[in-house]
Amino acid sequence: MAKNDPPDRYAVIGHPVDHSRSPLIHTLFARQTHQNLTYELIDAEPKDFETAVRGFAAAGGKGVNVTVPHKEAAFALVDDVGEPAKAAGAVNTITFRAGHLRGDNTDGIGLIRDLTVNEHVTLADRRVLVLGAGGAARGIVGPLLAAKPAELVIANRTKTRADDLVAQFHSPAGVGTATFEELASLAPFDVLLNATSAGLKGEAPPFPGSLVGPGSVCYDLVYSLKDTPFVAWARENGAARALQGWGMLVEQAAEAFFIWRGVRPDTRPILRQLVR
Ligand code: NAP
Repeated sequence: MAKNDPPDRYAVIGHPVDHSRSPLIHTLFARQTHQNLTYELIDAEPKDFETAVRGFAAAGGKGVNVTVPHKEAAFALVDDVGEPAKAAGAVNTITFRAGHLRGDNTDGIGLIRDLTVNEHVTLADRRVLVLGAGGAARGIVGPLLAAKPAELVIANRTKTRADDLVAQFHSPAGVGTATFEELASLAPFDVLLNATSAGLKGEAPPFPGSLVGPGSVCYDLVYSLKDTPFVAWARENGAARALQGWGMLVEQAAEAFFIWRGVRPDTRPILRQLVR
């Protein structure tokens, strides 16, 4: 790209989207890696999602991130997908190339990188519990299985959604599903990942405290500048560590940035800047 070329345009599309940190994160990545780009916010209701994506592409956009509630619609919209997106049935990154829409899902790799690289959490041979079976859980199950846990349980308020998710991965050995009530009979897990929005309206998270042992690492995909309800619940129940999803947010963004720009930003200073 020549020095005076206009910047390449990217955006995040969601509804609501005004509180998204993605513009800040991608702007910091671009500054760090000397990439000439802008990053916008696009608020689109579900009925307007396709028009918003195609309109941004037609206006010269190079790609979009997709957030709640459009990840499954994005999967249906794109022309081809990467393997993690295919397994998840959800897309959070679209790349525009000559009228072609390519879909990827970077949520799972973002979570795994944050857990294993940034937080030094071991997943291999550990008992891992995923709480939730929505879009975020769908994105993380494939990369989690690739990390070879000894056991993986997916628990959801609506159990059939957890069953469908496991079936999508051909019901591998060592993988089970449960309701939150059924979890009460299970031994504490080594790693607990909250991929639900439970507790965000002020109610107590509906998970039995017996799931947490003194060695448990509890990780909330939800992030906040104060303790999230799940992090508070994990601490109350004696978890060894209670983490929240800022690192996943930055790592999934870094993976999308790499797909678009071919450059991998150093996430550590960006993460520090974000939570300061
Ligand atoms: P989603 O598709 O709407 O799924 C929501 C999940 O939460 C479902 O499993 C749902 O259960 C469950 N749930 C909702 N309210 C509940 C309640 N009151 N009690 C128990 N379970 C409840 O949303 P998502 O896209 O998976 O996102 C889930 C969370 O992860 C969001 O808060 C999001 O901010 C976060 N997230 C973070 C990152 C990151 O980078 N850190 C990335 C993606 C998502 P049912 O199936 O029974 O409805």
